[in-house]
Amino acid sequence: MADQKKIYGYTGKWALVDLSCGRVEIREAPPHIYRLYLGGRGVQAYLIYQHLKERGWLKDPLSPANRIVIGNSSLNDTAVPTAGRGSCSFISPFTYSPAQKEWLGHRPPVFGLLTHSSCGGLFPNMLKRAGFDQIIIDGRAEKPVRLLVVEGKVQIIEAEPELFEEINGRKVLRRASETTDFLSQKHPGSSTVCAGPAGWNQVALACLTNDYHRNFGRGGAGAVFGSKNLVAITAYGRQLPEFYDREKFLEKSRAIDESVNSHVHDPNWTASFRPETGTTWWLDRAFNGGYLGQKGGYLPWHNFDEGYFDPELYKRVSTAAFLEIAGKHKVCNRCRHIMCTRSAAVNSGPYAHEGVRPEFETIALWINCCLTDRDGIFYLNHLCNELGVDTMTFGSVMAGAMELREKGWWPLPGAPEFGHTASMIKALEDIAYGRSDCGRLLARPTDLVVDELIKSTAGASPEEIVRCLTTAYAGLGYAGIEPKVFPGMFTAYGTSNRGRGDHTYAWTIQAEEGGLSGAENLASYVAGSQTGKALTDSLGLCDFFTEDFASPDFLEMYRALTGIEYTAESLKECGRRIYILERFVNNQQGRRREYDAFIPPKFAEPLTAGPQAGKRLDPVYYNAILDAYYRQWKWSAEGLVPAKLLEEYGLE
Ligand code: SF4
Repeated sequence: MADQKKIYGYTGKWALVDLSCGRVEIREAPPHIYRLYLGGRGVQAYLIYQHLKERGWLKDPLSPANRIVIGNSSLNDTAVPTAGRGSCSFISPFTYSPAQKEWLGHRPPVFGLLTHSSCGGLFPNMLKRAGFDQIIIDGRAEKPVRLLVVEGKVQIIEAEPELFEEINGRKVLRRASETTDFLSQKHPGSSTVCAGPAGWNQVALACLTNDYHRNFGRGGAGAVFGSKNLVAITAYGRQLPEFYDREKFLEKSRAIDESVNSHVHDPNWTASFRPETGTTWWLDRAFNGGYLGQKGGYLPWHNFDEGYFDPELYKRVSTAAFLEIAGKHKVCNRCRHIMCTRSAAVNSGPYAHEGVRPEFETIALWINCCLTDRDGIFYLNHLCNELGVDTMTFGSVMAGAMELREKGWWPLPGAPEFGHTASMIKALEDIAYGRSDCGRLLARPTDLVVDELIKSTAGASPEEIVRCLTTAYAGLGYAGIEPKVFPGMFTAYGTSNRGRGDHTYAWTIQAEEGGLSGAENLASYVAGSQTGKALTDSLGLCDFFTEDFASPDFLEMYRALTGIEYTAESLKECGRRIYILERFVNNQQGRRREYDAFIPPKFAEPLTAGPQAGKRLDPVYYNAILDAYYRQWKWSAEGLVPAKLLEEYGLE
C-alpha cells in the first residue's frame, strides 16, 4: 500500500549550494510545490521567484545574486518516451538592456529575463539517479570550483589545473569535450554538464554543454556559470524513481508508448519525419513547402531581408544535403520512437570530423548569414558545442554584424562576412576566447553593442545601426522562420517569456498554414501553446512528445507514478500558473508591453522574393493581437500581471 505522505516519482530532494560561503544544504522538497508547479521549469520558476522576492529583483545577471537552478522532474528516467529532458533556469545576461536609450524611444530598461533552457542527453536523468530533483546554486566562489553529485551527496571541489589551459598568457577553461573527458575518467560512469571557454569568459550568449553535444542553449547559462567561478557539475548514481502504483504505471506507460509509436508510423504526423530527417525536415518545408507544407518562402536569408533565395544554392544545405552525412541515431536518454538526433560525419576537406547532425534552427540561422556550405555549417556546429556558444543566438549576432560590415558600418577589424565560413569560424573563436576587440564587443548583450557602435561608427545613424541588429532591445534572437510571414508566430516570438524571438514556447506555423487567422484566434492559440509548453518543460518531456496531457491514459499514468491526481483542467492550471509566475518575475525585471510590441525595423519592410513576396509585419494588426493576447492571460493592457490574478493562482 502506498504511503500517502511520501513523494513518489521524484527524489524529493533539493540541494542548495551557496558558492560564496562554500555551503551545501540538502532539503526535503515541499510536496505542495510539486502539486502546484510539477517539476523542472515550473519548480525552478518558483525557486527563482522566491529568491528574488527575498533578496531584491536583479539588476545585473552576472552578479552573485543571480540564482541558477539545474534539475529534472517526475517523469524523468521513466519508461515514458522522451523522458530525458532536464531544465536549467536563471536570469539571462543576454536579454539585458539596462538603461533608457534615445535610440530605443526611451523604452523602459530590462535587466535580464527569467529564462528556461531544456536539454536532453543523459545528465538530467543521471542527476535524478544521483538523488536530486534540483541543484540550486547561489553566490560566487572565490576560486574556480566544480560540483560533484554522487549518491545523495553534493560536494564543492576546487577545479583541477588540468581543466584549464593558458592562451595568450590568460588562463582559460578547456573545450567542453576535454572537460567532459577529464571528469568522466575521474568519475567513471558519470555524466557532466560544463561551461566552455565562452562561459568562462562570461560571453552573454554562452551555453552549457552536457554529454558532449547537448546544450542548455539560450539565454547565457554558460556566462552565469562563469560569473560564479563554476566550471562543471558531474553526477553519478543508481537511484530509480519509486512508483505510487507500479503495475498501473507500467500498463499506462505501455499504452502511451504504443500511441507514440503509432504516430511515428503515421505519415500525417510530423513525428513520422523525425527518425530519419530530425528537425532538418523543416528546411525543405520552409524553403519550398516540402513535407506537408504549403508554398514555403519563409527560410530567412541575408539577415531576414528575404525568405527565399537561389534554389541551386539552397540544394547545398537542404534536408537531403544533411541526410547525406547522417549516420546512426544518437538520442537522449529514454528517447524511443521519435529519435530526432543522428550522428553525422564529413570524411574529407577542411571540415572533416565526426559529430552530430545540426538542428534545423541552427542551420536556418546560418543560412540567414548566407552560408550555403553544408560541411562548414556542420563544423561550426561542432565548434559551438566545444566552445560553449549557443548556435542560434550566435547566428543572429553574426547576421547583424555581417550586415553592418557590408554597409561599411562595423568599426573594428575581424567582423564576419556574409556567406564566408572562415570569417564566422574566426569570429566564433574571437568571441569565445575574447581575443580581439571585435570578439569582445560581439560577446556582449546587443544593446551594449549598439551603444558602442553609436559612439564609434561614422556615417550611420542610430536607427540605421539598430535596423541591422534584430536582437536589439534585449531580444533573445529570432528563430529560423521568417517573422514577416506569420503574424501568429510573430506574436509567439514577441511574447515568449524567455525573450523576444524564441520559438519554443509557442509554435503556430502548421496552424497558420492551415488557415488560422484573426487576432482573437491567434492570441488564443499562442496562449494555449505557451501553457502546453510550460507543462512539457515542467514534466521533463521533449517538445516532440506526441501525446495529449489531458488524455485519460496520461492522467492515470501520472497518478500511478506520483500519486498526484489531476484533471485535464487542473493540470492545465499548473501550466498557466507557471507561465503567469514567469511573466510576473519578468515584469519586475522591467518587461512591459513596450518590450513585447517592439518590432525590429526591418520586419516592417516587405519581402521581395519568392512565394511570400510582399509579406511584412503589420504593426496595427500585431498590436490588435497583443491586446487580445493580454486579455487571454488576464494581464493589463500594459502587459502587467495584476495582483488579483496572482492571488487567483495562490501567489502573493
Ligand atoms: S526526440 Fe530528439 S530531442 Fe526529443 S528526446 Fe528524442 S532525441 Fe531528444
